[in-house]
Amino acid sequence: MMLNPPKTQRWSSQKWRWLIPILLLLMFLATLIWLPWQAQRMEANERQEQLIADTLWVEQAIQFQLGRNEEILRLIGNDIVHERLSPSLATDRFRQLLNSNHEILRIVWFDEHDSVISSTSELAHPAKDYALPSHLESNRIESIRIEADNKTRCLPPALEAGSKNAYLLSCQIPLIKENQRHGNIVVSYRLQGILEEMAPWWFAQDNQISLLDSDDKVLAERAAAGPGKSFYTHNRALELDGVTLTLRTNSNKSEPKLLANLLVLSVVLLSLGLLWSLIALWRDINRRLAAEGALRQQVAFRTAMENSLITGLRARDMEGRLTYVNPSFCKMIGHPADQVIGRIPPMPYWAPEAFEEYQERFTKMLSGSVPSKGFETIYQRANGERFPVLIYESPLVNEHGKQTGWMSSILDISELKNAQELTRQQQEKLHASARLATMGEIASMLAHELNQPLAAISSYTAGAINLIQSGNVDLTLLQSALEKANVQAQRAGHIIRSVHNFVKKTEPRREQVNIVNLIHSALPLVELQAQVSNVQVQCQLAEDLPDVLADKVLLEQVLLNLTRNAIEAMLSCPPEQRQLRIVASREPIIGLTTGLTTGAASVQIQVIDTGHGITEETAKQLFSPFFSTKSSGMGMGLNICRTAIEFHGGTLDHQNNPAGGTIFRFSLPAINTTP
Ligand code: ADP
Repeated sequence: MMLNPPKTQRWSSQKWRWLIPILLLLMFLATLIWLPWQAQRMEANERQEQLIADTLWVEQAIQFQLGRNEEILRLIGNDIVHERLSPSLATDRFRQLLNSNHEILRIVWFDEHDSVISSTSELAHPAKDYALPSHLESNRIESIRIEADNKTRCLPPALEAGSKNAYLLSCQIPLIKENQRHGNIVVSYRLQGILEEMAPWWFAQDNQISLLDSDDKVLAERAAAGPGKSFYTHNRALELDGVTLTLRTNSNKSEPKLLANLLVLSVVLLSLGLLWSLIALWRDINRRLAAEGALRQQVAFRTAMENSLITGLRARDMEGRLTYVNPSFCKMIGHPADQVIGRIPPMPYWAPEAFEEYQERFTKMLSGSVPSKGFETIYQRANGERFPVLIYESPLVNEHGKQTGWMSSILDISELKNAQELTRQQQEKLHASARLATMGEIASMLAHELNQPLAAISSYTAGAINLIQSGNVDLTLLQSALEKANVQAQRAGHIIRSVHNFVKKTEPRREQVNIVNLIHSALPLVELQAQVSNVQVQCQLAEDLPDVLADKVLLEQVLLNLTRNAIEAMLSCPPEQRQLRIVASREPIIGLTTGLTTGAASVQIQVIDTGHGITEETAKQLFSPFFSTKSSGMGMGLNICRTAIEFHGGTLDHQNNPAGGTIFRFSLPAINTTP
């Protein structure tokens, strides 16, 4: 059998199984977050590099154009110096240049004394027209004077005359002949014009372009598509002859957006979806694992329950084919499960002699009538042994409420049957012993009770014999003696019947008994015995005594037993003290719980003697069978009396007689208790 791995081991393997995909997913997510950031940085770098390259390009373009202008002016200068070009022709050529280069404001030809020879525009006041501050003006003049080489010199930019923010850049090209300066050509550029004419439109579209002096003061600015965002900027030195300006470009493109890339966005969304489905899958698997665990537990519990059942279980499908048996059933029939599962009748556990019964029941079951109560039958074990079983059948219903077969619980009742048989045998034995005991009881009672009538018969017949033997036969007396003997013989017969009924606990022959009559009928016998013992008998019988429902003979016997005991107790007393009183009275019945009279009444009879009395020691065993203090006593009298009185629903007890002797008292419920 394969054992399940321990729980902790299972848990750790599950943990590892989950840890790897989670780690991979985290790495994937980290990469996804890092990628756009990296892309943004790369894009920013790329744009910056592009800006730098474009700025360089613009700077080159400006340099190139200024260089070209200078070159043309030098050619014109050359013609002026060597070809003696007239001022008007020079002006024409200057104008040609000016027309094709709008950044040039004016071109002026100075002679070696700095006098204007020709100019593209009227200069009423050259210094003012140049809009040069006086110190610059003087510097310029000074510089013009000082410099005698062939180099072009540019002056620091200065405000245009009459303008507040338009700056001019003036450069002088010397006119040299045979190492002698013959004047200058001064070309003035509008810085704004330089930017507008020389910077290409496509660059100006995306960038703000500025020219700054060495103090970072903006001299000219071009912002075709609005001001720059100051995110991508680049400064490039614009080296002119004698002046260095700064060309600043400021892109109006903003910082690249992090998630601008739709692809990245969709990848992030997809990975979020992946994460969500992974979590859902994880939760689902966890739920399944929990359900599986609960199911496994249930199955283990069910198997344990089935294995521990002592009741056999058997399931059959609608065709009567065995589909399931539990271990207890297999143990019962002695066949392993695989030998019986899948079988259809006749089954290997059917006893051949009961085949018909099985077949009949099986047919009934197939027709759908399942007995609601259990039924008994016999099965046969694999070793051929028969055993009784008690079977309960019930329909097997599936989860849709449809019947799919039958389920039976089978109880092996062999032990129960054995126990029942044993009980029956024991009961039989018990009955036999009870019968024997009853016979013994009858015998002892009869022996006791028949004493009196037999003694009476004996004394009557002895009297009759004496009478006959005396020779003087008084027939009346003889007849009386024989009649009395006859009555006692009949009484003996009654006693035998009553005792028999009483001992066998059959319903006594109860009748309405008048107590006064009962006492009177027993009195002759009492007196007979009293006479022999010199005892005086007195009766005090109340007049309004109600009747009782009783077996008359039994009650007489009780009275006779009590009077006989009383007479015998007085034998040790002087004859004059021997007095026997029989008192009958009506007594109310006192409620046990309330202590109040209940309204019902009872008849109480007291037998009072003046005998030796009863010691405490004797009193303890007074009613025990076979207890007697007399040499010839049987010790059954009081026991029979109490049983007989209780049998009639009454009580018997005793107490000491205050005048000496004992009082025995019994009471019986009256029939008509209404006063
Ligand atoms: P038995 O008369 O055969 O001894 P009983 O059951 O009638 O058996 O009486 C049991 C004993 O109770 C007697 O032996 C006697 O000692 C005592 N006893 C019964 N009645 C009296 C009585 N009236 N006075 C004194 N002792 C009595």
